[in-house]
Amino acid sequence: MKFSAYNISKSILSQLEEMDFKKPTDIQYKAIPYILKGEDVMAVAQTGTGKTAAFVIPILERIITNQVNRKHLSCLVMVPTRELCLQISDVFKEIGKKTNVKTIAIHGGVDQNKQIDQLLKKADVLVTTPGRMFDLNAQGYLNLRNIQTLVLDESDIMLGLGFKKDIEDLMRYLPKKRQTLFFSATINKKIKSLAYKVVNNAIRIQFSPKNPVSKNVMHSVISIQMDDKRFFLENLINEYSDSSIIVFVRTKIRADRVQNAMNRVGIDVLSIHSGISQEERFSILNAFRKAKQKVLVTTDVTARGIDLPAVEYVVNYDLPDNPENYVHRCGRTGRGRNKGMAISFCSTQEEQLLQEIEHYTGESIEKYDINLMDYKLILKETNDVNSDWKKLMKDFEKENPNNLNVW
Ligand code: ADP
Ligand code: MG
Repeated sequence: MKFSAYNISKSILSQLEEMDFKKPTDIQYKAIPYILKGEDVMAVAQTGTGKTAAFVIPILERIITNQVNRKHLSCLVMVPTRELCLQISDVFKEIGKKTNVKTIAIHGGVDQNKQIDQLLKKADVLVTTPGRMFDLNAQGYLNLRNIQTLVLDESDIMLGLGFKKDIEDLMRYLPKKRQTLFFSATINKKIKSLAYKVVNNAIRIQFSPKNPVSKNVMHSVISIQMDDKRFFLENLINEYSDSSIIVFVRTKIRADRVQNAMNRVGIDVLSIHSGISQEERFSILNAFRKAKQKVLVTTDVTARGIDLPAVEYVVNYDLPDNPENYVHRCGRTGRGRNKGMAISFCSTQEEQLLQEIEHYTGESIEKYDINLMDYKLILKETNDVNSDWKKLMKDFEKENPNNLNVW
């Protein structure tokens, strides 16, 4: 099936062609007709399978064919992070390039005056993060009374504890009669029932089998003691020096530490976390997107939704605290038609987390066997002149007394 089989305007179809979108992905095939009809939809589909265009295409179509009132802002898209806010608004702008639909992005972390100027002009679509949107709403710059379509992207996060109150408050400002769309790769029963309270009769479209990560991602895990992880990362980055790699760590302090450790051995990495200014976060992500920067170290702030088609490797330097985040982190690779590889560094203390991940996805992750000789070699090969690898080795042997194989 081709996009042209839908009842969609030429201005959108020809742009999809230019973007080399030849045919709809599964989730697009299923969701687009319902959204075009104005139905409520809850769509759950694997990471990187084109959920954004699944709502952007029909929303644009409804706007340009005047199925919504264009006098005021008619579509509100809520997302959990500022990076995602810019990315999704860019997808609206790109797919809508040949239409006259106006999309604006409003997020925190930057001066609000420019955003106010944008709000004062006429726009059709607003993509936004909750904090700044509520500020501007409270200051009277936002009129949500005519919103006809509400999208919660990464909907499990948007309805989860962190944002639940915001979203409940938001409902009071929106008209009761509207279209509501939920999109995510992961969702649990509790969140699902919360979602159904917000809508009338949502059409449910679920594509994920039990494992919500794209089938294009291969997974492996390697047992590495906490203090040795940096040497393995150094080794891996040197081995795949031409590749784009995202390294996930648990906290911002650890992100800085890993960045410093890599810089010490002459590897150029940058890090993104909540302690870095927003302008800098955007510019680092941009450099990474354009492949000017090959290695990015980050926290879970970048785990959700970010679409960087060139990322070939995801490294879980630390295992995530909850299994959903494993899914989202690994989903940063293997996007669209691309293949990807996820490698997790699991210390003895993290084995419980690994079990929880395997239980959640219903699949065991391939254990990468490394013998003691190779393990020693990796510690020894470091360019870190300050490293006392002999001491590290002794510590390791003490912790693994009868173990030649680490697994
Ligand atoms: P998801 O939200 O499901 O994780 P995205 O919407 O970010 O995924 O899309 C993942 C990638 O797939 C993007 O780079 C996007 O441009 C690409 N993509 C989406 N739909 C199509 C399509 N029909 N044909 C080709 N590529 C597509
Ligand atoms: Mg997405």
